[in-house]
Amino acid sequence: MSRSYLRFWGVRGSYPAPFTSHMGVGGNTPCVELRVGDDVIILDAGTGIIPLGNALVREDGVRSLHVVLSHYHWDHISGLPFFVPAFIPGWSIDFYGPAESPAELAHHISQQMKAPYFPVETETWLADVRYHVSGEQELQLGDVRISHTTMHHPGLTYAYRIEVDGRVIVYAPDNELAFISQSIDARREEFDEDEQPLLEAMKQEQHWRGIEFMEDADVLIHDAQYTPEDYRKKRGWGHSCYLDTVRCALDARVKDLRLFSHDPNNDDVELDRIEGSAMELVSAHQSRMTCRLAREGVQIDLDSLPRRRRR
Ligand SMILES: [Zn+2]
Repeated sequence: MSRSYLRFWGVRGSYPAPFTSHMGVGGNTPCVELRVGDDVIILDAGTGIIPLGNALVREDGVRSLHVVLSHYHWDHISGLPFFVPAFIPGWSIDFYGPAESPAELAHHISQQMKAPYFPVETETWLADVRYHVSGEQELQLGDVRISHTTMHHPGLTYAYRIEVDGRVIVYAPDNELAFISQSIDARREEFDEDEQPLLEAMKQEQHWRGIEFMEDADVLIHDAQYTPEDYRKKRGWGHSCYLDTVRCALDARVKDLRLFSHDPNNDDVELDRIEGSAMELVSAHQSRMTCRLAREGVQIDLDSLPRRRRR
């Protein structure tokens, strides 16, 4: 097994979907493991972190973990009450996430582990736990450099751009790409005819500014929760139509796009249809970008990706 890889432990948005009709893609909520040598970096702590934790405690050698959170909606933290390494002395866990202070981050994480919602509080964790704000500075975790930007999603939500040995991974699990253009279109009638070109220019500028963070990514993991029909009903809810995700990835010259945060209402058949439709759009643009659903259990070997220029 490669020592430098990405592995999907949870790919489902909103809530777990442990249904037989969904098992081809997977039912756990967001959790992605990034392994670089001996460093273990965990992106989000949805229910996918539960089987990851169980696998980690069976491994020899690993006792130190970094958990990087995009935000604190339940689907991104609800695996933590059952994350076994936190309950074992001798383990070390560093949490990172959007917050004003480390104390606020600790508060966000601990609130779901209080009576009457859960019988065990974070104070009973036996691991050495530390909290850090994903602030102005880039994070440097071993050989991994991580920067962040704010996403269009309810509450403060970060996407992370991760540089590992000349390769770039962008993790943007919850993001409404068309938020600005939809907002402009919704107010279009308030503007005169001669102002319409200005609105179009603003939309274009926002589009390019929005994809700047994912530019030239070797692997982009991005929200693609809605079909076009869903999105017409759920504008402003903070998630993307998969067609918008594909178009942005193409414009950003991404090499490998993994559609993420699948709607729990969509079974394997529907998600296969979405994947096929997304791949057709890529072909129509005569692009060589890989475009696949993120699927639980799938591992991307980072050592096999060609090194690219540093940003
Ligand atoms: Zn969310």
